[in-house]
Amino acid sequence: MEFEPVIGFETHVELAAKSKVFCDTRAEFGGEPNSYVCEVCLGLPGTLPVLNKTSMELSLKVALALNCDIPEVTEFDRKNYYYPDLPKNYQISQEYRPLGRNGAMTILMPGGREKTVGIHNIHLEEDAGKLVHDVYKGRGVSLVDLNRASTSLLEIVSQPDMRSPEEAEAFMETMRSLLRYLEVSDCKMQEGSLRFELNVSMRPKGQKEFGTKVEVKNVGSVRAVLRALDYEMRRQTEILEDGGRVIQETRLWDDERGETRSMRVKEGAKDYRYFPEPDLPPVHIDREYLETLRKDLPELRDAKRKRFVEEYGLPDYDAGVLAAEKAVADFFEECTRLHNAPKVYSNWIMVYILRELGGEDEKEIADLKITPEHLAQLAQILDSGKINQNIAKKVLNKSLQTGDLPEKIIQEKGLEMVSDSGEIEKFVDEVIVEQAGPVEEYKNGKDNTLNFLVGQVMRKSRGKAQPDTVQELLRKKIRGEQP
Ligand SMILES: [Zn+2]
Repeated sequence: MEFEPVIGFETHVELAAKSKVFCDTRAEFGGEPNSYVCEVCLGLPGTLPVLNKTSMELSLKVALALNCDIPEVTEFDRKNYYYPDLPKNYQISQEYRPLGRNGAMTILMPGGREKTVGIHNIHLEEDAGKLVHDVYKGRGVSLVDLNRASTSLLEIVSQPDMRSPEEAEAFMETMRSLLRYLEVSDCKMQEGSLRFELNVSMRPKGQKEFGTKVEVKNVGSVRAVLRALDYEMRRQTEILEDGGRVIQETRLWDDERGETRSMRVKEGAKDYRYFPEPDLPPVHIDREYLETLRKDLPELRDAKRKRFVEEYGLPDYDAGVLAAEKAVADFFEECTRLHNAPKVYSNWIMVYILRELGGEDEKEIADLKITPEHLAQLAQILDSGKINQNIAKKVLNKSLQTGDLPEKIIQEKGLEMVSDSGEIEKFVDEVIVEQAGPVEEYKNGKDNTLNFLVGQVMRKSRGKAQPDTVQELLRKKIRGEQP
């Protein structure tokens, strides 16, 4: 029997609000433990939460971009549970009247196939603090850092609409791109500002009903999610093939050992004794305000991709790669604004620049040493014929390393093409003398030898001669014609 996975995600996004969601304490990654705290986010008696308008605004932008139904009134609820990183012993969240429902997101699969993934709901809540496990005086201890406690956390709950690891990957990639386009979060998975929690169940192919789902937490990167998914698909299939039953539970991903293990049998909403948060009034979402937000949404990825094809004549593939990240797309457009050479830029960006991005430290295009000015200047010099493609590539790589402008590198390294025909002639004469054997072969009709001779001259010129000119000169000189 063949099994297929049913996959959904809960996406947790730390919003880029300057202060926490229910107080004016700074919300920032890092900092001395427990330095970004106040009476409210410490949950001291007698304090009251006040909703941060920016957090709500960023959340609504996401709800709009995901085509959610946005209610006239949204409310907060208390989710009650005990954990040392939760000072109030309840988390303010949204259970009954979330700010968005019934949304959808289109994901683009490799090969161009589009698929729509439903969004069940979007709700705003406060994040918990962090436990740091350490050793103190030889004993294992857990330390509590509340800097993150009560920072704005947006949770996006997808429908279980994905049916393969490829679709799961496309979902995560599209979601991250969208959130970054909206500039609602820095989406640094390494720092936990974007977290994907995986829901997965298996069912015999062709069966309508869902199997029992398992939730996987503690997955810190897209790669880890895919590994955890692969592990769970195999684990659950094995159980089902042996005639067993999958238990509904929450499992933790252990990245080092490459496996998930049971954390707790899955709790239901009832266990949290949700009830309306009495300290926060319902929030009325004004329709006019909502329309203003909608109008202010930036051009999103799909629209940009299509425009890049039309406006710059880029191939669909290139346009898709450039539009995946807003910062990269903006970089590209700034280059074309400075000097019009879109195809050259798209090539350079895809081949030389994108490979510098991402990685462990999640490097972004703004972190690089080069700017659109570098690329535009280089394209301009290339167009003027002072350098050729090969040298341009070398200069670009040098710029990437040093941050120096192309003009400076070309001047300092003397990389300008040798346009002085006297100098090239000198190299040609030298090669004819040094390579008497090959020259003889060429004279006897072995045409290929000419390429070898051109190569020798190019080497002497350190790549700065025009190959066409060299070929012409060699031919004439060997035939004994006047150049
Ligand atoms: Zn606070």
